[in-house]
Amino acid sequence: MGAFDWFWKALGAQSERNDTRSKQVVTRAEDLLSELSALDDATLAQRARALAVDGEITDKSEFLAILSVAATRTLDMTPFTVQSQAVLRLLEGDVIQMATGEGKTLAGAMAATGFALTGKRVHVITVNNYLAGRDAEWMSPLVSFFGLSVAAVTEKMSADERREAYLCDVVYAPVNEIGFDLLRDNQITDRSQQVQAPGDVALVDEADSVLVDEALVPLVLAGSVAGSQSTGEITAAVGALKEGRHFTVDGDRRNVFLTDSGAAEIERRLGIDSLYDGEHAGNVLVRVNLALHARALLIRDIHYIVDDGKLALIDASRGRVADLQRWPDGLQAAVEAKEGLTVSDGGRILDQITLQALMSRYPAICGMTGTAVEAVNQLREFYGLRVSVIDRNRELARIDEDDLVYAGVAEKNVALVERIAAIHETGQPILVGTHDVAESEYLAEALRARDIEVAVLNAKNDEEEAGIIAHAGERGRVTVSTQMAGRGTDIRLADGVAELGGLAVLGTSRHRTARLDNQLRGRAGRQGDPGLSIFFVSLEDDVVVTGRGDIAVSAQPEEDGQIPTRKIREFVEHCQRVTEGQLLTIHAQTWKYNKLLADQRIILDERRAALLDTDRAVQELSARAPERAAELAGLPPEALAHAARQIMLFHLDDEWAEHLALMDDVRESIHLRAIAKETPIDEYHRIAVREFKDLAQRAVDKSVDTFRIARITAEGVELGEGLARPSATWTYMVSDNPLSGGGSGALATMESFFS
Ligand code: ADP
Repeated sequence: MGAFDWFWKALGAQSERNDTRSKQVVTRAEDLLSELSALDDATLAQRARALAVDGEITDKSEFLAILSVAATRTLDMTPFTVQSQAVLRLLEGDVIQMATGEGKTLAGAMAATGFALTGKRVHVITVNNYLAGRDAEWMSPLVSFFGLSVAAVTEKMSADERREAYLCDVVYAPVNEIGFDLLRDNQITDRSQQVQAPGDVALVDEADSVLVDEALVPLVLAGSVAGSQSTGEITAAVGALKEGRHFTVDGDRRNVFLTDSGAAEIERRLGIDSLYDGEHAGNVLVRVNLALHARALLIRDIHYIVDDGKLALIDASRGRVADLQRWPDGLQAAVEAKEGLTVSDGGRILDQITLQALMSRYPAICGMTGTAVEAVNQLREFYGLRVSVIDRNRELARIDEDDLVYAGVAEKNVALVERIAAIHETGQPILVGTHDVAESEYLAEALRARDIEVAVLNAKNDEEEAGIIAHAGERGRVTVSTQMAGRGTDIRLADGVAELGGLAVLGTSRHRTARLDNQLRGRAGRQGDPGLSIFFVSLEDDVVVTGRGDIAVSAQPEEDGQIPTRKIREFVEHCQRVTEGQLLTIHAQTWKYNKLLADQRIILDERRAALLDTDRAVQELSARAPERAAELAGLPPEALAHAARQIMLFHLDDEWAEHLALMDDVRESIHLRAIAKETPIDEYHRIAVREFKDLAQRAVDKSVDTFRIARITAEGVELGEGLARPSATWTYMVSDNPLSGGGSGALATMESFFS
């Protein structure tokens, strides 16, 4: 793609040197192949081990060559030169860009094996359970060749199975499972309960999705609490407000704002002085806004349904009822209150971590993706990672047509359907990438009306999905899919399809980043296959509307609505660059909020580890309450140490959960106050630092109190009234911030764990 050639050159001498050097290493490796191929398995494995000295590889060429021979013997795949280059760059800690279908799975497994040979435990991070399982099994002969162990961690596995899997040298796992296990491990009260053995290296598949696009998605661990707060009063107050006078909703119904008179009305009804000031203002204000959001923006039968007295969310991107999903607690409760349902036990957030914070915990990260170049800035800024572009094994034979730009969506859709029908006539398979379910359904209907059979991909099951995708390269197939990003299964052309021009990929509009466009495009033209890609754009598309700012377009469309000029195409690209810039700014801003809590959590973990692994708890409590320690002197020392540990860990974790809840409220209210021209982030930091400073001390003070009154026997400790750990915990992932995105922020609860 011409646009990045200059860019890549501009990255300068550093990467070119790397490139030249890497190529020399790989060339030498290939020269060694025939000699090494003569050796038996055991000798090869032993030589590879001998090349890893103190975690470093002494002869990279020979090392690569051995990995290559092992791949041939175990997997019946002889790595291409470009794959060996990829392996080398991965071992040096880069994110490599390799196009779809170029064989990232093998390259990643070779690199993971390489790291493991140097004594490092590798987490190969996949985008879903299906791929973790598939790749671990597929690549296992290669890893085992060297006497190393490999396993997958997937959603359905029990704690014991996970514990065993994590002990392997190479562990394939989806990123959310790794995060959930970490969160659960941060609640243990005895080392033997720990599930995850930490990884030394994270090798991230679809690195740009995980490290950039989803970086700020929080993984949440929640626990049951008895009784939930009453939201009835606030719901009633908000229910009495009038749209227009007390609150306003913006044009696309994504945001709702309380007016001054609305605020006054709420204050009057709740009998409080001010929503914006005072000690508990933040909390009430947040709940008022949640109730308002629930009332004005979330619509029954569009965003959720009420079934059997319970709320069921509709997953906007998939258009079906999302089992076991929740909105963040406050919002879920607000909608339940609005519908007059029993407010469910929302639970209490015990801990949470963003993917970015999770990934930042690894001592070393490397990754692979088809589209890294456009994420160079983010990868460097957020993770200090460099990007290496790996050449294609065979030259790209795909034709990327210029965008077709239309004045309006309606004209665009007509043209799109016409084009699909025309291509379909020839038998060439077509993959259409749409933005949401509504669009894919509309399109599927329009095509069926013309007797074109369509497979619509919005299944929830990754395995099924992989199956549909695998058939998408057959003659005459038309597949309409939402969100092709990170689907991770490649589309092979069936016999005779290459002669028809290969797979045709049509995009229904540009995405908010060029990277996502290229992920879609990359579905066609794998391994030198022919292919075609075209994006249809209208000036009414989100990306154009968001990115255009005040720029007016004066171009005169042709009769069919098309504006076939270079200028308009450049304008669309400009709009996309603007939206990309906006996303980057939001990311950097949001990360500032998250980073502080992530750092605090790491400090807390050190304290936790000390309590878990030493007798510090009993020492501290005995020093603070010697009279109580004397009373308990008759107990076996181990029982007392155990009880002290339980008490101190309980209060430490409890204080942390309180801290998270408080900071969440602060953040929401600061965001709302930002309108009043305060400097939100500084204010937030000030409060977070102040609150955290007292946290450890408060936890100790409360532990001393508990120590004095708790019933402690040789059998254990009863913490006392209201001081129990949650009887059940569950995990979920917040896929979007529902307060900023039209209510589609569904959450996926993965599993229920009983502790
Ligand atoms: P990517 O993840 O980069 O899109 P995959 O890892 O899924 O690509 O590989 C695409 C296909 O190419 C797979 O079916 C794999 O079996 C095949 N493949 C990869 N490397 C080789 C090789 N060196 N020799 C033969 N086939 C290969």
